[in-house]
Amino acid sequence: MNPRLVSLNSDLGIPSQFLAARGFCECEEASCLEVAEVGADGKDHLLVPAAANAWHNLKSAALSDGVSLFIVSAFRSIDRQTEIVRRKLEAGAPIEDILTVCAPPGFSEHHTGRAVDLSSPGCRSLELEFEQTSAFAWLRARASEFGYYLSYPIGNNYGYQFEPWHWCFNNAQPIVPADAAR
Ligand SMILES: [Zn+2]
Repeated sequence: MNPRLVSLNSDLGIPSQFLAARGFCECEEASCLEVAEVGADGKDHLLVPAAANAWHNLKSAALSDGVSLFIVSAFRSIDRQTEIVRRKLEAGAPIEDILTVCAPPGFSEHHTGRAVDLSSPGCRSLELEFEQTSAFAWLRARASEFGYYLSYPIGNNYGYQFEPWHWCFNNAQPIVPADAAR
């Protein structure tokens, strides 16, 4: 495993044996990113160009079916992920609980610039209620036409909770199992 990741994770109390046991895959940070969408709050949501292009096509297709989708979160750096986990720890959450809803730094698909967390108007972001929306039904039926796939369905092998909002462009990105030598 990448020594930087071993050290970052061990600082957070996450041993490398744990990463390997959960079957997490290292996700490289994207270097070439573009603005895929600007949030209502003015925040730039970044994706790699192929994922951004596919997102634009997906979003227009959804819109012509009367379904409105927007990005809540896209690219996230390893440093940012470290910060998120650290804040949750500081708030008193046990690391085992944090890692059912949050990837360890270096292991989030958001690092690759290919993953998006999506929502639709009238739905609280990053909540299971997204599963009940017509937007989710549309994604289930059509997202794969644009190369987007649901990464963490119910009962996924990584031990993450079901994330109906999290979709990743072309899951065939190069991924390295956590226990593989580099
Ligand atoms: Zn996500």
